[in-house]
Amino acid sequence: MSLTLSVLIALLTAFCGSLVAQDNPFFSTPTTPYQTPPFDRIKIEHYLPAFQEGMRLHKAEIDVIVQNPNPATFDNTIAAYDRSGQMLTNVAGVFFSLMSTMADSQRQELAGQITPLLTAHNDDIKFNEKFVARVKSVYDRRTSMKLTTEQLYLLENMYRGFVHDGSLLDEAQKGRLREINRDHAMLTLKFRENVLTETNNSYIVIDNQADLAGLPANIVALGAEAAEEMHLTGKWVFTTQKPSMIPFLQYAASRPLRQALYTAYFMRGDRDNDHDNKAILQKIFTLREERARLLGFATPASFTLDERMAKTPEAVDQFLRRVWTPALNRAKTEVSDMQAIIDAEKGGFKLASWDWWYYAEKLRHAKYDLDDSELRPYFTLDNVRKGAFTLAQKLYGITFAERSDIPVYHPEVKVYEVKDSDGHLLGLLYTDFFPRASKRNGAWSGSFRDAYYKDGRRVIPFATLVCNFTKPTAGAPSLLSIEEVQTLFHEFGHALNSIFANNTYHTGFVPQDAVELPSQIMENWALEPDMLKLYARHYQTGAVIPTTLVDKLKNSNMFNQGFDAVEYLAACFLDMAWHTLDKAVDVNVTQFEQNTLTSIGLIPEILPRYRSTYFTHIHGGYEAGYYSYYWAEVLDADAFAAFKDTSLFDKKTATSFRKNILEKLGTEDAMTLYKRFRGREPQVEPFLKRHGLM
Ligand SMILES: [Zn+2]
Repeated sequence: MSLTLSVLIALLTAFCGSLVAQDNPFFSTPTTPYQTPPFDRIKIEHYLPAFQEGMRLHKAEIDVIVQNPNPATFDNTIAAYDRSGQMLTNVAGVFFSLMSTMADSQRQELAGQITPLLTAHNDDIKFNEKFVARVKSVYDRRTSMKLTTEQLYLLENMYRGFVHDGSLLDEAQKGRLREINRDHAMLTLKFRENVLTETNNSYIVIDNQADLAGLPANIVALGAEAAEEMHLTGKWVFTTQKPSMIPFLQYAASRPLRQALYTAYFMRGDRDNDHDNKAILQKIFTLREERARLLGFATPASFTLDERMAKTPEAVDQFLRRVWTPALNRAKTEVSDMQAIIDAEKGGFKLASWDWWYYAEKLRHAKYDLDDSELRPYFTLDNVRKGAFTLAQKLYGITFAERSDIPVYHPEVKVYEVKDSDGHLLGLLYTDFFPRASKRNGAWSGSFRDAYYKDGRRVIPFATLVCNFTKPTAGAPSLLSIEEVQTLFHEFGHALNSIFANNTYHTGFVPQDAVELPSQIMENWALEPDMLKLYARHYQTGAVIPTTLVDKLKNSNMFNQGFDAVEYLAACFLDMAWHTLDKAVDVNVTQFEQNTLTSIGLIPEILPRYRSTYFTHIHGGYEAGYYSYYWAEVLDADAFAAFKDTSLFDKKTATSFRKNILEKLGTEDAMTLYKRFRGREPQVEPFLKRHGLM
């Protein structure tokens, strides 16, 4: 079927181009309200021809830029490039959004065809020497050009992108870069495969029922199921996958078995067997060092951080150390709390890393117990969504009104018009809340179109908010867990960022460590008592959530925070240590890891969240970037403190947040924007307080 389809599409495109173009909705301006994507008319066979035509047009536009006989200027090169590729952007915006929400086999097949075409297309631009030379020529004269802040930021980031991609290297260097990238891709793939194999091969088998002591019935049942799958009927298997391992470590009374399972976990990739990752790590980091030097940077960390809000390895190190000391102190208190339990039980041993979850669970039960099923009735999906809309209205004066005449890609999708306090339209929001087979897991916010200015008028964005919440049943509405409530507020924050965006240009550059500020800040309001009063009502009685429950909820957020922070930060230090090395080839992996952890004073009761030999994040998008989770949290806690210091719905603070952050992120240096909002650099204290670390 799929083969037939692609052949058919190829034939149609080759011989019936004009015929296809006629009824292909991507080839003309939509007649829908606000020119939204005409989902009712888009068919799967429309995409490939639209992508091909989009790439052809884009290439022609680049040719015009390159062949311009006049010297390169901001407008004839940078702005012209920013304006180019509109058709391609339109079709890609729809296609890739639906790849996450409507990914049936036809669409997946098509993505497999389109992705290499797009990669080749982008490479043609990146390595078009005449084009890159024009960009560089504008960049070199940037200080004498009287550019606006936004123009300068766009230019510098565009140029930086070419530097990072190696577009400015000579032929021999480009050749070497290609080799490095190829070998690096192979090695990181091998690294990940090894982690997967090691994870699958690391488990414990229990054949004596007495060894299950302490485990709840549902966890025992999971162990039996896992054994069944391995043809070990009548036994129980617990694996090093976290959903299997964590409950076992939490509840299993057998200390030797906890030790066996946790050791199986933390020795993955470090067993000197066929799947050992130590030599691979040395090779990976040696290549990263060479790549960084080739592109003009001292270390892989300085290469990566060049594009981040933190900017330098030193700034990251300073940041980590500010949080580290209070976290470590808190963790030491947690150790003594747990040791006290062990001693009271006459255990006669010292707490070890494999004991942590077991005694932490005892502490949690005694001090922080909270039942999820008590909370859910107060959080129907509809109330939570309305709560988020109400919050945005209180802060920014904006309103949401459902439109039923705008085409959608699935019957469960709803579209809202978002209007400013003066009634003018800011953008559209598409919500899509329930799981289905063709939708990927998790929650996210994206867009079919981003905001920009055309002929002096703002083109409105079409933002999306996608989740996977439990569907309502005949008897009960969709009732959300606290995590899901926070997820909705979080993704809604991303969506607000898109809806308020006030970019002049299409291209925005938001650093990876700043991108979560608009979303994470929204989570703060979700559980504030004054906010809960506005939306958290029992779906049967209509009663507002009781204060006792809210207090319990706040209290439970303080549980085990020293441990969480320390295991996370230790992994951050490890990430930075690897990426600031300059001779990985000489390193003994085990010794290097041990030295790094000793130098920060890590206690033996806690291991880093990931040890080097299975730290997959730093080989898949978080290279010298694992710190950014807390970086973003420090930003959102500090930003939210500006509201707490005035009032929860303070209009003046909200307006400043909107004007400086939500409207401008991506158009100016993120730290400059933040300082304009807050009047100073971010401080860690609100974050530490939130986590009970001070
Ligand atoms: Zn997010």
